[in-house]
Amino acid sequence: MSSAETILSPETVTGAHGCSLQRMVMPHGKRPIPLMIQPVRSILSRFLIRRLPMRYTRHLGRFYSRAANLLKYGDPTFPASFHIETSEFCNRSCWYCSSATRPKRTGVISDAMFHLALARLQELNWTGPVAYHYENEPLLNPNLLSQIAQTCRALPRCIPTLVTNGDLLTHEQMDALVEAGVGRVIVSRHPPFRDAWDARIEAVRHAWPDRVSMMQVGVTLPVHKNGQFDHDGIAWQGHCIAPSLCLGIRMNGDVPLCGCDAKHLAVMGNIQTQSLNEIWRGREFCALRRTLRNGNLGHKICMGCSGMI
Ligand code: SF4
Ligand code: SF4
Repeated sequence: MSSAETILSPETVTGAHGCSLQRMVMPHGKRPIPLMIQPVRSILSRFLIRRLPMRYTRHLGRFYSRAANLLKYGDPTFPASFHIETSEFCNRSCWYCSSATRPKRTGVISDAMFHLALARLQELNWTGPVAYHYENEPLLNPNLLSQIAQTCRALPRCIPTLVTNGDLLTHEQMDALVEAGVGRVIVSRHPPFRDAWDARIEAVRHAWPDRVSMMQVGVTLPVHKNGQFDHDGIAWQGHCIAPSLCLGIRMNGDVPLCGCDAKHLAVMGNIQTQSLNEIWRGREFCALRRTLRNGNLGHKICMGCSGMI
């Protein structure tokens, strides 16, 4: 990814959570940015990105992502990010998270599967965000730092992205993450809200302003209830582009329709036998995406979901 690309790359991730988290953020400082680019980045940051309402930066990011994907993959709807399920556990049980509907598990991804996931991303020459969650809290994963470092080696131009509930995020943890090569840290702020948590995360954000951002979950953005919950959620919003926002790779290699498939009901392929490109272009997956974009529920897991727009 060129420096110019990183300037406008959208932060588009799906919380483990089944919640859509989207916001334009500034790029990380992992790789040195050419001198002539730095003033442009600074101007964009100060006068454009940070001042625009989120809905505009979101549209800008979407436009950029679609244009980049069209040029690179011949498909403007190609996923904006990839998420690897590196572990299965979370310390929280948010009602809107699809992990809340399953028994607690303690598994971690095997080294072989993690390497295979990286190899599949290498086949794509992937330069966008790579995240380490799918219904799990990655800071509880004992292999996280090593996996971030491996990602940097395998995909030196990608953006290793940590999406965390922030409960374990400290200055010391941030130092270790930065040392490992993390590009972005997105802290999702889940209820119940606590002053001590807010103060700690604010201090971390203050120390790494270009690398750490925070998302408010469930208040300003759509929340999924996914038909797997009894709670009322936000109503169906007319269509869904979840697969284009991010594509998950689960611990067994499955690639699900979206981040809400807690029960492995909507598996579109498996990286053990297929490339990510083959899975993405699979007939069933293409048809489901078309159906969702056109405003219809694509799969039974979509029943009761708000959709992602
Ligand atoms: S904090 Fe844990 S339970 Fe809550 S949405 Fe994230 S992964 Fe799910
Ligand atoms: S509508 Fe379907 S594809 Fe879209 S987020 Fe919900 S469950 Fe996933």
